Amino acid sequence: MEIQLNPRHAIYVGSFDPMTLGHLDIITRGTVLYEKVTVGIGINPDKTPLFSPEERLELTQKILQPYDNVEVTCFCGLAVNFVKESGSKVMLRGMRTLTDIESEFTMSLANRTLEPNIETVFLMASEKYSHISSSLIKQIALLGRNGAAKQLADFIPEPIIEPLLEKFQTT
Ligand code: ADP
Repeated sequence: MEIQLNPRHAIYVGSFDPMTLGHLDIITRGTVLYEKVTVGIGINPDKTPLFSPEERLELTQKILQPYDNVEVTCFCGLAVNFVKESGSKVMLRGMRTLTDIESEFTMSLANRTLEPNIETVFLMASEKYSHISSSLIKQIALLGRNGAAKQLADFIPEPIIEPLLEKFQTT
């Protein structure tokens, strides 16, 4: 028998290392479209993230605390399996550039092969956030050092600024 998946519950997965204003924008818009949004922080044992899974979970929960219909959790393994195990029918993704379109399209086709009952839904990045990525943020924090706190406020939620700068402190 086929399991009933909830089409009003969306799952937004990513590394969130760290969460940016671009991610937050997709989540905020997702909460208007869906009754519930689960943010899934992907744990990849083969990668060394800047922030540990525990740090990412704590920071992301802090940022999303004002939202009644958002839940944050970590997961291991395939995103599409996490979506199914959560009982949701929708994988929410953000789309920034032409490069994103290519990789996201391939990924969504693979996911559909794995789980035909799950739909990937894309939201186009807002113009003012479309250039933001977690790797860009790390570069600004690393190279900007002293003046970076003010500059970072245009890219990441406020609770991330201090913890991020601490990661790059040399003394
Ligand atoms: P991944 O490790 O899967 O690349 P990310 O945390 O970088 O995870 O991204 C998760 C999702 O958020 C992806 O769908 C990505 O395209 C989207 N995303 C990332 N940055 C932005 C942004 N600035 N605006 C809109 N969507 C974004």
